[in-house]
Amino acid sequence: MPICPECGGEMKFDRSRYMYVCTSCGLAVTRSELDDLKKGRSPDLGEDERERWRREYLKWWLSSKR
Ligand SMILES: [Zn+2]
Repeated sequence: MPICPECGGEMKFDRSRYMYVCTSCGLAVTRSELDDLKKGRSPDLGEDERERWRREYLKWWLSSKR
């Protein structure tokens, strides 16, 4: 199980989006982004884009839990 690069939480693979999602902070990254983060490089997405993505995903993630 991959570890979230931001908070150290557990990340789960979401098959419907092909992204790894942090169960603690909601960070969502693709496989290649996760590899980049592990190597210490930042992903291609800009900060704003990532933040927007994360918020959207967190919303979706929380609503899908119900
Ligand atoms: Zn996290």
